[in-house]
Amino acid sequence: MIFILLYLAKKFRMKNKIKNKVKGSDILQLEVVAIGGYEEVGRNMTAVNVDGEIIIFDMGLRLDRVMIHEDSDVSKMHSLNLIEMGVIPDDTVMKNIEGEVKAIVVSHGHLDHIGAITKLAHRYNAPIIGTPYTLELVKREILSEKKFDVRNPLITLNAKETMDLTPNLSLEFIKITHSIPDAVLPVLHTPYGAIVYGNDFKFDNIPIVGEKPDYRAIKKVGKKGVICMISESTRVNFEGKTPSEGVAASLLKNDLLGTDNENNGVVITTFSSHIARIKSITEIAERMGRIPVLIGRSMAKYCGIAEDIGLVEFPKNTKMAGDPTSVDRIFHQVMKEGKEKYMLVVTGHQGEEGAVLSRMATNKTPFRFERHDQVVFSADVIPNPMNAAQRYMLEARLKLAGVRLFKGAHVSGHAAKEDHRDMIRWLNPEHIIPAHGDFNLTATYAKLAEEEGYRLGEDVHLLRNGQSLKFERII
Ligand SMILES: [Zn+2]
Repeated sequence: MIFILLYLAKKFRMKNKIKNKVKGSDILQLEVVAIGGYEEVGRNMTAVNVDGEIIIFDMGLRLDRVMIHEDSDVSKMHSLNLIEMGVIPDDTVMKNIEGEVKAIVVSHGHLDHIGAITKLAHRYNAPIIGTPYTLELVKREILSEKKFDVRNPLITLNAKETMDLTPNLSLEFIKITHSIPDAVLPVLHTPYGAIVYGNDFKFDNIPIVGEKPDYRAIKKVGKKGVICMISESTRVNFEGKTPSEGVAASLLKNDLLGTDNENNGVVITTFSSHIARIKSITEIAERMGRIPVLIGRSMAKYCGIAEDIGLVEFPKNTKMAGDPTSVDRIFHQVMKEGKEKYMLVVTGHQGEEGAVLSRMATNKTPFRFERHDQVVFSADVIPNPMNAAQRYMLEARLKLAGVRLFKGAHVSGHAAKEDHRDMIRWLNPEHIIPAHGDFNLTATYAKLAEEEGYRLGEDVHLLRNGQSLKFERII
């Protein structure tokens, strides 16, 4: 009881102090805290402090730091170990930030944005706000967590909707496109203007699943006034514009419909959360007269949820196999009835040991590769030596079995340089903070911003994890 009272008294004093400061000097107190994702691609987490009211954006994992991939499990590991290993954001910097966390906002369901929620969210007395698909994925993460009890309320906010967070702050979700459904561009409306969290997005006018980005809403926010934009920079070093998901569908058709594969096995591997890509694949299977089968724990999870909440409709004869028993069963069936009747969509595009494709290639499933079977990699190799080595081994094994490999059918889910330039022009932010990359990427973004009239250190800022930027301005 005494502890509770002390806590409340402390809280009250802190609130008063901040209030007085604002009232007394009429100075805008706005601070952006770079917690994770400012020295790497991954473990995204940013806090924005507006007059003592703090909003956290994303809590993600760094996927390459340990052998973590879509099929692996960090549920038993402790936050402090994971922070030390650089796997999750080091949010201990939050101790030095004066104010109260009012909400944790998640931009989309990729693990580098939601994967640390189960390890960190319980430390904050605040709800988690996201779109329906993102929150379903958050729920699954919470259910599989074995170390911490995450009880933060989950609040759904749909794209195109706005909700009040406090009397001074409201949150708008603008429809955006990415490589997972239901991704949004969160906009925090403050009494001093908007703060836009652009982490991650692409501008895709043929997204296959879901709608195009809401360009009108983006421009409207820009016209009203943006104080600060935090933007991803993972693909800013690519010239031009990132191709649409419609282009990936055409590339897949080229590989699958344009190859002599009528009597052979056809296996495709891609990101389990890339529902648009998987939808294109299943539709091509239908055209080829094959039954699409989605195989692997994460494949069944991401696709199952997307179908359950009505985001996507796969062809009626589509089968899913997630747990090891049903995976084995479906492979037996395929081998018995004939590979040429099926199209297998499997996990393991990076060559991950333990994922379905590697297990197939090493004969750990009832499936057997034969000469002239076709394997399509609808994903890029994520550039780190571990992935490169694993992919090399997988490909070598497949080639030894006489399998035909196809690798080009992929487009990125991240904005390229000219997409970013459009975003800057539409939002016209007073300040820009590039995120989601190390110096090589964030500095490339800063250079682009300079081309658009910004100046490093004045209105485009490079932060490292743990650093923060204070905007103080007399209003
Ligand atoms: Zn993402």
